[in-house]
Amino acid sequence: MEFALTPDQERIRDAARTFSDRFLAPEYLQRDSAERIDRELVREMGTLGLIAPVLPERAGGLGLDSATMGLIVEEIARGDFNVSYVPLLGALNGQILVRHGSPELAAEWGARVCSGEALLALALTEPETGSDAARLKLRARADGGDYVLNGEKTSISFAHQADAAITFARTGDEGDGAHGVSAFLVPLDSPGVHTTKFDDMGSNLVGRGSIFFEDVRVPAALRLGEEGRGFTQVMQGFDFSRALIGLQCVGAARASLDETWQYVTERKAFGSPIARFEGVTFPLAEAETVMEGVRLLCYKTLWLRDQGEPHTAEAAMCKWWAPKSAFEAIHSCLLMHGHAGYGKDTPHQQRLRDVLGLQIGDGTAQIMKLIIARERVGRVAVPY
Ligand SMILES: Cc1cc2nc3c(=O)[nH]c(=O)nc-3n(C[C@H](O)[C@H](O)[C@H](O)COP(=O)(O)OP(=O)(O)OC[C@H]3O[C@@H](n4cnc5c(N)ncnc54)[C@H](O)[C@@H]3O)c2cc1C
Repeated sequence: MEFALTPDQERIRDAARTFSDRFLAPEYLQRDSAERIDRELVREMGTLGLIAPVLPERAGGLGLDSATMGLIVEEIARGDFNVSYVPLLGALNGQILVRHGSPELAAEWGARVCSGEALLALALTEPETGSDAARLKLRARADGGDYVLNGEKTSISFAHQADAAITFARTGDEGDGAHGVSAFLVPLDSPGVHTTKFDDMGSNLVGRGSIFFEDVRVPAALRLGEEGRGFTQVMQGFDFSRALIGLQCVGAARASLDETWQYVTERKAFGSPIARFEGVTFPLAEAETVMEGVRLLCYKTLWLRDQGEPHTAEAAMCKWWAPKSAFEAIHSCLLMHGHAGYGKDTPHQQRLRDVLGLQIGDGTAQIMKLIIARERVGRVAVPY
């Protein structure tokens, strides 16, 4: 068992930390009131190799391991939870392109993602199908060398500002379930695409919205994976993003905990710093313990991935445990600030709202527990 980082991992973790402390953390609150992420900032992250270095060099990456990707996501999220969607979605979508797209497609779009030139969204959810995503309805009809897409995706992160979306569509019959679904890389400037942005309680910088497809022509060269196998093949990438989401949440909780330990040593009540009272320090100590447990689970999951070992159950554990634990940790931190924690000018309320979104996004806790049960006892634990 080896818990130490390699010198290369330390170097890239330190680069991400410095960038996060210097450029992200000071503007975290103000940034969320912007409608869009500053593309110059994204390009800067690309220049530093902080978006998707896990991709191979032929796709614009550095060929780094998944655990190093986790270190980057954790550090970026510590400074600005919402900016950490950039490496998260960059790495997830980039790996899907590399594994299931043609070499030309992976090279072109991988390089654009890694350099910060392009943002990719992942479009799975529809108005009628979220948890039960295999029943999706958006239609892709083969027509000559193209597919023609019609339908709506909703609740998609980056919908209004992404350059392209990995889009799941039905190429088979509705009765085929997951087996009739294919995946496509759809440039969002294609004729017939329209997007909206929702007014959310958090993560406005990322933005969540619908993508409407009206007779959108997509060349067959932009299909990812085999026809009808998109769901089963491409969804395997979610084991990666679930561990990274866990570390996003760890980063946010870490920031609130560090700030709160500092605060409780300075704030005085009853003649001494409030850090003197167990009622103040024990909730923080508990949060420290839980978040360290979550953190270890996330890195173990990424390590398993790097070894080529199964990690579906562990990834689902990260995905339900981390956002819930981070929410509770940040909630404790907010309360330890007393009245000073209740203002809109504190980072804790912003983190609370941002982290809450990931108790739903990428699958709810119930669905994650269903996956864990399925991994342990098989399909008897699945309600369909
Ligand atoms: C911040 C955020 C970002 C998102 N980003 C994206 C994105 O980028 N791309 C994308 O495609 N989607 C995205 N989503 C959508 C998200 O993945 C779905 O909202 C989620 O999968 C749940 O689907 P649903 O909303 O349709 O809920 P439903 O499926 O309608 O579920 C409603 C409730 O019922 C529960 N439930 C459903 N089925 C079961 C069951 N079998 N057993 C027990 N409980 C069950 C659920 O857990 C939930 O509590 C995002 C959502 C949020 C909030």
